[in-house]
Amino acid sequence: MNADKLLQQTKTTYEEVQPHLRACADVFHENEGELFTRTEAISLLEDEVDINSTTAAHTLGQLVGDTVDPIIQIEHKGEKYVGIIEFHEFAGAYGYINYDDLFGQGKRVVCQQCVNDATLDAEVTHATENDPVGSFSGGATWDELLAGIHEHYEQAHESVPEDVATGATLASGTTIGGNTAWHAGNDGSGSGLTADGVSVFATTGDVTGLSKGDLVFIDSDNSLYVEDGT
Ligand SMILES: [Zn+2]
Repeated sequence: MNADKLLQQTKTTYEEVQPHLRACADVFHENEGELFTRTEAISLLEDEVDINSTTAAHTLGQLVGDTVDPIIQIEHKGEKYVGIIEFHEFAGAYGYINYDDLFGQGKRVVCQQCVNDATLDAEVTHATENDPVGSFSGGATWDELLAGIHEHYEQAHESVPEDVATGATLASGTTIGGNTAWHAGNDGSGSGLTADGVSVFATTGDVTGLSKGDLVFIDSDNSLYVEDGT
């Protein structure tokens, strides 16, 4: 596809979904603990937010697969389910059960101040259980993850936010035309926390074909593939 044409379309999609991200995220918050097939989710959003199915599908694509939104996607027997499994508010942070195609479910605590300051999903520091590039093994408790975020706070931020609100309105972590859509590594504080949306993937290749909302997976044979998040 022609690069200019792709960039133009991507911009259009983001402009289309941006006004609806918060309202759509709230629909899933109201249904915490319930997972919907994508078809069910799209008609739910159509009804609750008063948007058409195309916009609902695009918005859904933007909400799943990032760090800041507790909305996750699980593929089960060929069907994709989306929703919020579990959500918690903490002092200056929030937590949710993440689901990763490679590593399964894991508790994640996200720094609220990073969410407040960030423009991109990838800028947000989180502490995630069983994260291969983080410092928390499987079985880490909410308290342990929160303590990691509070340690990050002391190093990275001067103030602790009073209110907790998820970052539904942040742009997706993927970048267009950049060299890195994802990068492995820590936040430089030495805490082993990752400030990275997808956490395990590093690319030096050309990622010009990615669009915001695209979902990136690693296959069992270690090949990367990208799926339209819609
Ligand atoms: Zn932070």
